[in-house]
Amino acid sequence: MRVAVPKEIKNNENRVALTPAGAKEFVKKGHSVFVQQAAGEGSGFSDETYQSAGAEILPSIESIYETGEMILKVKEPVGQEYQLIKEDQLLFTYFHFASNEPLTQAMVRSKAICMAYETVERPDKSLPLLVPMSEVAGRMAVQKGANYLEKPLGGRGILLGGVPGTLPAKVLILGGGIVGTQAAWMAAGLGADVIIMDVSLPRMRYLSDVMPKNVKTMMSNEYNIRNLIPSTDLIIGSVLIPGAKAPHLITRDMLQYMLPGTVLVDVAVDQGGCIETCQPTTHENPTYTIDGVLHYCVANMPGAVPYTSTLALTNATLPYALELADNGWENSCIRFPELKSGLNIIKGDVVYQAVAETFDLPY
Ligand code: NAD
Repeated sequence: MRVAVPKEIKNNENRVALTPAGAKEFVKKGHSVFVQQAAGEGSGFSDETYQSAGAEILPSIESIYETGEMILKVKEPVGQEYQLIKEDQLLFTYFHFASNEPLTQAMVRSKAICMAYETVERPDKSLPLLVPMSEVAGRMAVQKGANYLEKPLGGRGILLGGVPGTLPAKVLILGGGIVGTQAAWMAAGLGADVIIMDVSLPRMRYLSDVMPKNVKTMMSNEYNIRNLIPSTDLIIGSVLIPGAKAPHLITRDMLQYMLPGTVLVDVAVDQGGCIETCQPTTHENPTYTIDGVLHYCVANMPGAVPYTSTLALTNATLPYALELADNGWENSCIRFPELKSGLNIIKGDVVYQAVAETFDLPY
């Protein structure tokens, strides 16, 4: 199969859908790989490294879409790409259709096959192509929090782990899923006193089995949150209720009970945030302060570390992409049911119920 990888053109997107190591795997199996010039640059992969892995570099985005039978991307196509997509072409990327009607309509018109990373779902309901980005965001949340706790950046001026003779900082993590677990490992590793709150007892049992001694678990409810916030230095929001907006666990009135310079990192901002005062921010302008409490609410945290994010994402996508190239999308969907759930649009038909319902399209 001819596999083609465009350079991402969405603002500030430096990830790439295939690494040179991945290109080599395709070539070894007899596929042809085409990579747009400079596609890997933002993640630290030069054109030469792709060429030495056996890929061919093409000069333009037009030539990529013209050549590829399967297009491997990271983010959804943007306006200027719509007319380049061809009938029967297989697109394997994040789409997030339900939040983008023009994209949905354009992909229906294109008659391409759209397989969305975010809806690839295993029988146990896990989302293997979303997990790596949650892992990155969870680990980053603590790095960011530790940084913004420094006085010159607006924080309380406390070192996360303290030093001998001083108490460490207190970290409260709301939601002990993928993001929360990774955040807890990082905060605990730096020596902080960590509490993870969740509503799932089985999850908290698991966490208390695997976490080090400086991580405690606690039932998530308003009473417990109100009790803890006056003595907490860093709060990380990492709640997810699938398919719904995040609940506001930290309300506006709670800010007055926090220590001045407390830092709030709301990773769940992409689902509306679990902190009422959270508004999406960008890497260029990541924080703002309300009532002396610093908020960090960047909606695409993994974008700041494209090298790690690209490797983490492609570690998860490559086996599926190879399967699609080896066996074609129809056979692959029989062999791997999670790929079937990734199908959102097939040759003009919307086949993912939630997307069809969102835009009142036939399903
Ligand atoms: P997850 O499903 O693995 O974990 C969510 C956890 O929240 C679960 O353990 C669940 O039991 C818990 N929960 C639900 N209701 C709760 C409540 N009332 N109180 C406490 N806990 C509660 O999800 P995840 O992969 O960890 O993702 C968390 C959030 O981070 C999502 O909104 C995701 O979209 C977001 N995210 C953001 C970025 C970013 O760049 N900002 C990157 C990746 C993920």
